[in-house]
Amino acid sequence: QPTAGEEPTANLALTRRWQGALMDNYGTPRLPLVRGAGTKLWDADGTEYLDFVGGIAVNALGHAHPAIVEAVSRQIASLGHVSNLFVAEPPVALAERLLQLFGRDGRVYFCNSGAEANEGAFKIGRLTGRTHMVATDGGFHGRTMGALALTGQPGKRNPFLPLPGDVTHVPYGNPQALAAAVTEDTALVVIEPVQGENGVVVPPPGYLKAARAITAATGSLLVLDEVQTGIGRSGHWFEYQAHEGVLPDVVTLAKGLGGGLPLGATVAFGRAAQFLKPGHHGTTFGGNPVACAAGLAVLDTIETEGLLENVKRAGEKLREGIESLGHPLIDHVRGVGLLLGIVLTEPLAPRVQQAAQDAGLLVNAPAPDVVRLMPPLNITEDEVDAFLRALPAVLDAVTDTDGDG
Ligand code: PMP
Repeated sequence: QPTAGEEPTANLALTRRWQGALMDNYGTPRLPLVRGAGTKLWDADGTEYLDFVGGIAVNALGHAHPAIVEAVSRQIASLGHVSNLFVAEPPVALAERLLQLFGRDGRVYFCNSGAEANEGAFKIGRLTGRTHMVATDGGFHGRTMGALALTGQPGKRNPFLPLPGDVTHVPYGNPQALAAAVTEDTALVVIEPVQGENGVVVPPPGYLKAARAITAATGSLLVLDEVQTGIGRSGHWFEYQAHEGVLPDVVTLAKGLGGGLPLGATVAFGRAAQFLKPGHHGTTFGGNPVACAAGLAVLDTIETEGLLENVKRAGEKLREGIESLGHPLIDHVRGVGLLLGIVLTEPLAPRVQQAAQDAGLLVNAPAPDVVRLMPPLNITEDEVDAFLRALPAVLDAVTDTDGDG
């Protein structure tokens, strides 16, 4: 707080304005940012930060990547929004490109967010004629009512009960629990290959394969929510591709797909692609050419810059570097590629998040004892080194003040 007579800082001025004008729907202090370039961000006071949040896995290529700036500028200058009464080249090309990366025949429905992509999956499930669905405890699929019905986090669901649908939640990562819940009345099973919002929870090996076998046996659809894990974040185009013998019926995507623009997709394969008929679903901005042009730029750049390899390399370096710090507050690091969770020995993650921000590092705390890292996929070795150099002092700052109040 500035003392009487002192000019408020630009950060404080912007903070006061947002508090007066925006809904405080997350209930946490928000850092007022004004500029980004690559993995760097700057606040209104000019302080520089290293961005290991990546817009919650959205900024696949970092901030202001020339390929995105160029693609978006070119597209909006030639043909912007056209509505679903018409069709343009970018959504067609992006759908073709995605199907090529999946290596399967299918159909793509474009929307604007992860929640909407999961609403598409929800509707496909209902159109099978079955009503029962199975999802996982701790799972997160979005905040719209259908996506919330699939979400397995009571704190987010409870204010909105009753939610639509007949959804059974089962413990994540447990094939026996899944087998017991799925019947011939089950329309779909929805699973995140790694639970991001729940604290970067990785299931045991063989879980996705078991889910595929269980759903195949009952004729239920297997929906993989790759909103957070997809588009290279895990070191594969889609995380399920790292799991042998797993071919989902539906994959939902968003976040990194648009490289910073609002873009989601419900991708359905085989018989799952037949259920949504004209009139069943749609949204005004779906397949927006500008967002899809950004999506194409993201996929092209991941390929031309060899970013899947970079994700694997940088992810390993980060994981090993953090664990080898041997800090008493660090238990271990879990996750895939550049979706990593530092599991703490004490529930101090929110304080680590704040101390990191004070030290110029942006991270987040999806669980009380987990600090999540989701830097851009093109993060450099030097940036990983800078993070590793700065982290010990951040953890020390939190443990030193522990017990002071
Ligand atoms: N699914 C998963 C796995 C997610 O992590 C998220 C967002 N954190 C969503 C769905 C919802 O995406 P959106 O916020 O774009 O609606």
